[in-house]
Amino acid sequence: MTVTTHNLGYPRIGAKRELKFALEDYWKGQSSLDALEGHGADLRQRHWQDQSGLDLAPVGDFSFYDQVLDLSFTLGNLPQRVRGREGAALDNYFRVARGRSASDSDCSCVHAGEMTKWFDTNYHYIVPEFSAGTQFKLDSSRLLRQLAQARQLSVKAKPVLIGPVTYLWLGKAKDDSDKLALLQGLLPIYVQLLQELAAQGVEWVQIDEPILVTELDGAWQQALVTAYDALSKVKNVKLLLATYFGKLQDNLALACKLPVQGLHLDAINAREEVAQVMAQLPASSVLSLGVVNGRNIWKTDLNEVLAWLEPVHASLQSRLWIAPSCSLLHVPVDLDSEQKLDTDIKSWLAFARQKLDEVHTLAGALNQGRASVQAALDANHAAVQARRQSPRVHNPDVKAAVARIDASLGQRAGSYAERAAKQAALLQLPAYPTTTIGSFPQTAEIRQARSQFRSGQLDAASYKKLMQAEIAHCVQEQETLGLDVFVHGEAERNDMVEYFGEQLDGYAFSQFGWVQSYGSRCVKPPILFGDISRPRAMTVEWSTYAQSLTDKPMKGMLTGPVTILNWSFVRDDQPRSVSCYQLALAIRAEVQDLEQAGIRVIQIDEAALREGLPLRKSQWAEYLRWAVESFRITANGVADETQIHTHMCYSEFNDIIAQIAGMDADVITIETSRSDMELLDAFDDFNYPNDIGPGVYDIHSPNIPAQEQMVKLMRKAAERIPAQRLWVNPDCGLKTRGWKEVIPALANMVAAAKTLRGDA
Ligand code: GLN
Ligand code: ZN
Repeated sequence: MTVTTHNLGYPRIGAKRELKFALEDYWKGQSSLDALEGHGADLRQRHWQDQSGLDLAPVGDFSFYDQVLDLSFTLGNLPQRVRGREGAALDNYFRVARGRSASDSDCSCVHAGEMTKWFDTNYHYIVPEFSAGTQFKLDSSRLLRQLAQARQLSVKAKPVLIGPVTYLWLGKAKDDSDKLALLQGLLPIYVQLLQELAAQGVEWVQIDEPILVTELDGAWQQALVTAYDALSKVKNVKLLLATYFGKLQDNLALACKLPVQGLHLDAINAREEVAQVMAQLPASSVLSLGVVNGRNIWKTDLNEVLAWLEPVHASLQSRLWIAPSCSLLHVPVDLDSEQKLDTDIKSWLAFARQKLDEVHTLAGALNQGRASVQAALDANHAAVQARRQSPRVHNPDVKAAVARIDASLGQRAGSYAERAAKQAALLQLPAYPTTTIGSFPQTAEIRQARSQFRSGQLDAASYKKLMQAEIAHCVQEQETLGLDVFVHGEAERNDMVEYFGEQLDGYAFSQFGWVQSYGSRCVKPPILFGDISRPRAMTVEWSTYAQSLTDKPMKGMLTGPVTILNWSFVRDDQPRSVSCYQLALAIRAEVQDLEQAGIRVIQIDEAALREGLPLRKSQWAEYLRWAVESFRITANGVADETQIHTHMCYSEFNDIIAQIAGMDADVITIETSRSDMELLDAFDDFNYPNDIGPGVYDIHSPNIPAQEQMVKLMRKAAERIPAQRLWVNPDCGLKTRGWKEVIPALANMVAAAKTLRGDA
């Protein structure tokens, strides 16, 4: 009757980001490979210790950079450009990850592997590279080493692997060949790997096929059948097929009939499917249910879960396993590290360690009855209830304002053509107007001033003076360069989301709530816990100060509601759309305050709009509907004369161009320089009606773009978009660059615009 508890994966960065610092020391040449390996072993040991209450703990989920890249190396799928290099295997691994390794001199770099989003999370993996000739060869050393360490520590080890079909799905055929054709060559490698694990006495292997929650065509479904037929031939090892991040839907029958010994289902996203899965799964199969949310930071309502899980347990008995819904990679490690979080809010939260405690409590209740864990259940109930009823979460005025939203809020008075005429008369801009995306270099002095202000070493008045001096400098430089629409430079901002979150009611901030974004890079998403309101203006003072220094139009700079939402931990007690509307109303008020204060151009960044797209295409329309509506509510409370800009730093617009047009910003600036303006085709084909600023140079590179190159790009742009609707600007903000690069780059850009005006 006993349920088995397990976990799909654990954060590897460390509660205090130990792995990040160890990696960076190694890359800088300040520590040895042995030291790095030692840090890795320590972290693994500590993390297994954290998971020691479970019946099975994941092994092989630890990675020095990325679990997909690990698998590429395990399968011998190294890009040609790093083969045959000397030195440690780990150095080669870092070459693919980052373009260079610690031992490389500057000139022996290779280009890094492409990175992309892991399903609908904010984690980014290194895309496997394929061609028609790709051959695989097993290198199980990494996994076997981790397994040996686990064994030595008496960990009840369950190795975890990304499955073969998901692996192919995640990769990219560089020669446009058919990736699925590689399956035949790949399966024997997996078979061999499973045999080696079986020989080590491993009982269960978790094999992840999260593509089962996406829309799969017949060929991909067939590939799963073929793959698991082959893998099921391996004797003496059991497979737990793991799916997560969504519902199985039309893959449900397939998932239930694959010849494996167990299936893991994300019972947070797919609780409705549990009954169907139970009906279809073979009577001998284990069903693992992910009953604790692995994607957010809230406590689970344990009594509520037990109410539906107890009957499931009664029916499945010892065939029931429980776990978090997905790998805990996507949540911070330990709530106990937080010393500054408000105690009420802290009592509502659970990070990775606490989520495993929840799994443990649930198992106790199922195995020995609720009474055996009554104290834990009662404490959980009290916290969950307190959150539900807290006046800090619920603000009736905000709810009423959201209820009052109607179409008029998202509507501007005039059409684009009417607005454009009024704006032209007011702003008096030349053809091919030049601007930047918002941030200017964040120098060491700026960072120091900000951190001293935070720690109280610098008082508010002195801080303000320093920031104003920085703004004045930035304005002066733009004056000298001869740009047309200025920005204040964003010196006062640490981060484009955190800066706003800190000033909005309804947001909380952790000290150590880091989540891996890629490699050694982590983000600390702010916690959106309550109804959102704006106690006071957030940017007006800086923008009006900047405007007071120049006659050129000063662009007010805001982060849009969709981006703030997508880069936060969000509430699980109301739909995302409602949180987004609340943010929209708060930022709308800021837009209106800026207009009132005489700011005539206002940019609302939506860098992460695309990131919120649901996994299944069938759900895109609904997401885009409220996302676009939220933007329009934010932007459209202004007079026709006020020019609204938006900015998006990615390069895929084909599939969402109608919605981008629907945002109806007067000007959109986008990333284009690396795509040679080809992505403007999407705008051209759609007859995109408003102004566009296609980025003319890549701000990620320290190279100074040549004037002729930018002229050439803009002429390409003008073949697609009428010249009178084109702006000239970089791809994105300049905060990661130095002034020494920014000045000549922008000087060339302004010169390019002048040349182009000769064409017009
Ligand atoms: N305004 C922001 C900046 O210039 C935009 C950053 C972004 O799009 N990621 O830094
Ligand atoms: Zn950008």
